[in-house]
Amino acid sequence: MVSYPVTLIPGDGIGPEVSSAARRAVDATGVLIDWEIAELNAGVILNTGQSLPQYLIDSLDRTCVGLKGPVTTPVGEGYTSVNVALRKRLDLFANVRPVRSLPGVVTRFADVHIDLVIFRENTEDLYSGLEHEVVKDVVTSLKVITRAASARIAEYAFAFAAANGRKKVTAIHKANIMKLADGLFLRCAREVAARFPAIEYKELIVDNAAMQLVMRPEQFDLLLLPNLYGDIVSDLAAGLVGGLGIVPGANMGEKHAVFEAVHGSAPDIAGKGIANPTAMMLSSVMMLAHLKEQTAANRLQSAVEKVYAERKHLTRDVGGTASTDEFTRAVIAAM
Ligand code: NAD
Repeated sequence: MVSYPVTLIPGDGIGPEVSSAARRAVDATGVLIDWEIAELNAGVILNTGQSLPQYLIDSLDRTCVGLKGPVTTPVGEGYTSVNVALRKRLDLFANVRPVRSLPGVVTRFADVHIDLVIFRENTEDLYSGLEHEVVKDVVTSLKVITRAASARIAEYAFAFAAANGRKKVTAIHKANIMKLADGLFLRCAREVAARFPAIEYKELIVDNAAMQLVMRPEQFDLLLLPNLYGDIVSDLAAGLVGGLGIVPGANMGEKHAVFEAVHGSAPDIAGKGIANPTAMMLSSVMMLAHLKEQTAANRLQSAVEKVYAERKHLTRDVGGTASTDEFTRAVIAAM
């Protein structure tokens, strides 16, 4: 049997708890993974003085596949985001986030079936990190939009739609105000859309899109967004299906793929053993599919859905009382 090398980045906050749960679930599928553990957390960053330690990059260059827990970024001060740095360094240009209703999760939108996929540009926009205090109390932040990055994420989204029988791509923008930056993003999306006539193409201004997502989420299929809108809309969409505990994600590049949940390090619940590992487990499902282990991916997905449908071992964020470990054991038993 083949053994796949994978870099496991536990992260910090709830990261180590949810990533070890996901690792147990992946191992239980029977697929052999040669896990290379690479620590990345506030301690490592402050001690080494490097936001991306060389051993992490070396490991990902060897394995080309990562399963990553969240890493805390200080707010308003301190070091810059290592999550953003990793995406830029490995050119993980496409952030792919499937947002689906799970059986048994009681939400405000329980009467609609939500099944959309977010394609967020992952390397530029206001995440350029180019900020400057022009004079005291006057600051600029540079929003960088390029044809290369905009066309690449649009092509990725349309190619996904074509390969997966999806019907519609909605590009989300604010080109009425940012005529040049978001205008370029839209032009690229339109050019790519023209090459995929079988897929319906629509555009929505981001504020209207936010309202439409809350009013009629079922109208959406694939969403195509620049980096910042993609970040915000991802959490909004997670809220529609039961919260951040259940939405997975993948950061895809030409050579590397790093799978991670949409959620962050959740310092408010870290170390309590109550975090929901579903998002990391479903990110692992995406990883298994990427490794072409589709049968194992389906088994893990079905096991998670079965535990949700039974509603006996759910964590608190989705209305249960189970710990991270109890939920994990239930998923493994369901396999
Ligand atoms: P968060 O996603 O960590 O938490 C938001 C809320 O959702 C909190 O109430 C939290 O308890 C809850 N939550 C999140 N994941 C959960 C889970 N698995 N189970 C149960 N409840 C869960 O967002 P935040 O508080 O805004 O950010 C905290 C830190 O995480 C920040 O430093 C931020 O920069 C970082 N962050 C990292 C990543 C990443 O590593 N990719 C992504 C987002 C945020």
